[in-house]
Amino acid sequence: MYRSHNCGELTSSNINNEVTLSGWVQKVRDKGFMIWVDLRDRYGITQLIFDEERTSKAILDQAQKLGREFVIQVKGNVIERASKNPNIPTGEIEILVSELTVLNEALLPPFTIEDKTDGGEELRMKYRYLDIRRNPVKEKLIFRAKVAHEVRNYLSKQDFIEVETPYLIKSTPEGARDFVVPSRMNEGQFYALPQSPQTFKQLLMVGGLDKYFQIVKCFRDEDLRADRQPEFTQIDCEMAFVEQEDILDAFEGLTRHLLKEINDVDVEKFPRMTFDDAMKKYGNDKPDIRFGMEFGELNEVAQHKEFNVFNQAELVVAIAVPGGNNYTRKEIDKLTDWVKRPQVGALGMVYVRCNEDGTYKSSVDKFYDQEDLARWAEVTGAKAGDLICVLSGQSNKVRAQLSALRMELAERLGLRNPKQFAPLWVVDFPLLEWDEETERFHAMHHPFTSPKPEDIKLLDSDPAKVRANAYDLVLNGNEIGGGSIRIHDKTTQSLMFDHLGFTKEEAKEQFGFLMNAFEYGAPPHGGIAFGLDRLVAILGGQETIRDFIAFPKNNSGRDVMIDAPAPIDESQLKELNLKLR
Ligand code: ASP
Repeated sequence: MYRSHNCGELTSSNINNEVTLSGWVQKVRDKGFMIWVDLRDRYGITQLIFDEERTSKAILDQAQKLGREFVIQVKGNVIERASKNPNIPTGEIEILVSELTVLNEALLPPFTIEDKTDGGEELRMKYRYLDIRRNPVKEKLIFRAKVAHEVRNYLSKQDFIEVETPYLIKSTPEGARDFVVPSRMNEGQFYALPQSPQTFKQLLMVGGLDKYFQIVKCFRDEDLRADRQPEFTQIDCEMAFVEQEDILDAFEGLTRHLLKEINDVDVEKFPRMTFDDAMKKYGNDKPDIRFGMEFGELNEVAQHKEFNVFNQAELVVAIAVPGGNNYTRKEIDKLTDWVKRPQVGALGMVYVRCNEDGTYKSSVDKFYDQEDLARWAEVTGAKAGDLICVLSGQSNKVRAQLSALRMELAERLGLRNPKQFAPLWVVDFPLLEWDEETERFHAMHHPFTSPKPEDIKLLDSDPAKVRANAYDLVLNGNEIGGGSIRIHDKTTQSLMFDHLGFTKEEAKEQFGFLMNAFEYGAPPHGGIAFGLDRLVAILGGQETIRDFIAFPKNNSGRDVMIDAPAPIDESQLKELNLKLR
């Protein structure tokens, strides 16, 4: 028996017990006549004591040779500590060791296994198994497991059935590139790894399972923007005989359950916002509504004066920064430089100071008088002491720019409180999205998403106006879930493929299996998928998902610990009938 107790559970109620513990050597303090060792395992730290008077010479000698991270087993007696440590649960006791076995020696770790380590990110990823011994990493993995457990708990109670779907499949269009796997047995043919189980979950609905979920890996070969992983985990869900309202209801329930169980937070009914409103008010389809700073459109009150920049702009739009009148001229110039960085891309920024005495001072005083500026303040909701920041240009671009500024300022002003949770549904997404590069419409969500029946008639005349029965769940400025009501009849589905530019043959080849299934009695159905990595990070009060993944990849999609991807043997290539250029 390696242990009778773990390293986190012994207290003064165990005094005089004979115990056996196993774990890692966290720290050795050697005073010569007395040695203390902190023994660590997943559950905590227990102090061991060896001393000249009470410990045999042989064991003392052995203890002297212990190094950091050695794996040891000890037997001994639980005694009261002379100097207690109120900060840890085992702080009242220590173990007077009578037997010591070194189970495994350890090389000196390349960074300290402490909450605050001296190891940089790259080094910690290379030795991730050592990193995982550190409390902050370990606790995040335990936290993740708890969230996943609560998801299963809740959905199982609601009669959802967890079904596994295959990983070796063919392309599912979620808008990214596929990872492909060559098939040895079928020369020249490839599987694609699922970008999501989308088509399979729809087939499960045709199969009559009614309510499906799966905590599942998805694979997307995208250029890795910050904080994305090429493989990530979804809570994937689908329901039959549902309308949008049923789905929103079911998954608002799940989210509410998680917020309660994990964060002990009760939230009101989730607000809803249309995609158009989100874009207009926040310049973003995943607005952070923990704070205000809503956009105010100034076209009516700022155009047709002498200021040509505004006159020529499609949209003049502004936010009021609370307390921003405190900014010095230099700080405002810096803010202007910030919006002009290529990552944001604004051409410039106009500002208005809202003075405490009710007057205004702007960078465009030459063109606008106090009355004009007062109207701007009214439209943006600016109060005395605020600063109005105005951008102008092409609507979509300028909204994105102002949204970036809004988020940056909120961050600086400490308005993005990670302990506060503000979920909302964004609904009525457009069905199609124009792609400049290919000069074609793409499905904004995916090609199986159902148009709103009342908008179908616009498909030919004004495709960009067609709204979808599609929705996103947004939490604290992050999209944590998205889904749609699906098309469930062959005619609408093939109409959709036509509009997306698939020829009949292409559609048949790629999605014939789904279209066929629709001919055998497909129920109306719909679903949603949550990004588990991000959800866990946000519930954990953070925004980087990497910390919550046991073995994440770096920004080049590389696992630096196992060193993947890597070349394969010539013989393997041959077997697969592949030739490298
Ligand atoms: N398959 C979709 C996605 O991965 C989610 C859904 O429509 O249910 O975004």
